[in-house]
Amino acid sequence: MKKVLITGAAGFLGSHLSDRFIAEGFHVIGMDNLITGSMDNIAHLMPREDFTFYHHDVSKFVHVPGELDYILHFASPASPIDYLKMPIQTLKVGSLGTHNLLGLAKAKNARMLIASTSEVYGDPLVHPQHEEYWGNVNPVGPRGVYDEAKRFQEAMTMAYHTYHGLETRIVRIFNTYGPRMRIDDGRVLPAFISQAIRGEGLTIFGDGSQTRSFCYVDDLVEGIYRLLMSDYAQPVNIGNSDEITIKAFAEEIMELVGNSNAFLDQRPLPVDDPKRRRPDTSLAKKILDWEPKTDRKTGLKNTLPYFQQKLSSVI
Ligand code: NAD
Ligand code: UDP
Repeated sequence: MKKVLITGAAGFLGSHLSDRFIAEGFHVIGMDNLITGSMDNIAHLMPREDFTFYHHDVSKFVHVPGELDYILHFASPASPIDYLKMPIQTLKVGSLGTHNLLGLAKAKNARMLIASTSEVYGDPLVHPQHEEYWGNVNPVGPRGVYDEAKRFQEAMTMAYHTYHGLETRIVRIFNTYGPRMRIDDGRVLPAFISQAIRGEGLTIFGDGSQTRSFCYVDDLVEGIYRLLMSDYAQPVNIGNSDEITIKAFAEEIMELVGNSNAFLDQRPLPVDDPKRRRPDTSLAKKILDWEPKTDRKTGLKNTLPYFQQKLSSVI
């Protein structure tokens, strides 16, 4: 049985990846320090013999007994409010954590995939963003702690690839959504859906003309699985290229939820908030034969019951 270590396994993406690798017949070792994740996301996996969980901070030395075939490094605060609250942990998990895991991969002769992000492009001056674009990041702005950690993570991973010959993969993930996002993680989709269900104002930052392109989690997981199994070591964008303004997104969610008390509530725009974001996914199409399959309407319909259920247990 092949073994995969997934860091950040109790988080949104890590838990979905754990499900996928178990379904593919792997033994999954999940590792997480639960700073933003929840055991609820992996409670269904805990009784299984093909799942092992370690409560551990990967910025500290990482030890895993026995053989390992793959490592997926997904541990990191990921939402702007989380990484603004935990700037040092964010920098550490992207740098020290990545270094520890690359060292582990080298010792075990495992293939390692890192979760990079569209944030490496910063507030992009090129649209849509393709992998050759080097980005426009403010290193000392509030988002710099996340963006620069991820840029360092890519550089360190590439150095292990070229210098040590380690098998590495880099996925640049664009805004992804689905069940198991934390309701209060501050990202736009959990914020808007919860506010719409509660019949509150949907907090639009700025005038809502900034854009994002939202990918459903199952599509992302498929892209990551294909990338891991490919022989391509350069960064690959995975995301959905259907771009929408934040204001239109709020209106779409209000319509879907159908609570007539909800309204649009404009708030100040956070510093360095990227104005436009849309992935160019032609590389993923070419080398992985991957394209997103789930349109936003379907993805939002799949996601809504999770938030309704979560909120009914806290109201
Ligand atoms: P999440 O907050 O739900 O999950 C992150 C997990 O990592 C949490 O369970 C947290 O407890 C754990 N963690 C954080 N620091 C740790 C540490 N030092 N040691 C061990 N565990 C630690 O976030 P997510 O959305 O699932 O994101 C997962 C990864 O994907 C992150 O690396 C993030 O940067 C990347 N990513 C996500 C998106 C997205 O849209 N969801 C976009 C781009 C990149
Ligand atoms: N946003 C918003 N209201 C919220 C949360 C976010 O208008 O309650 C905006 C935010 O300013 C950004 C976009 O939605 O322009 C996406 O924000 P998110 O935090 O989800 O992810 P980002 O892509 O900025 O990392």
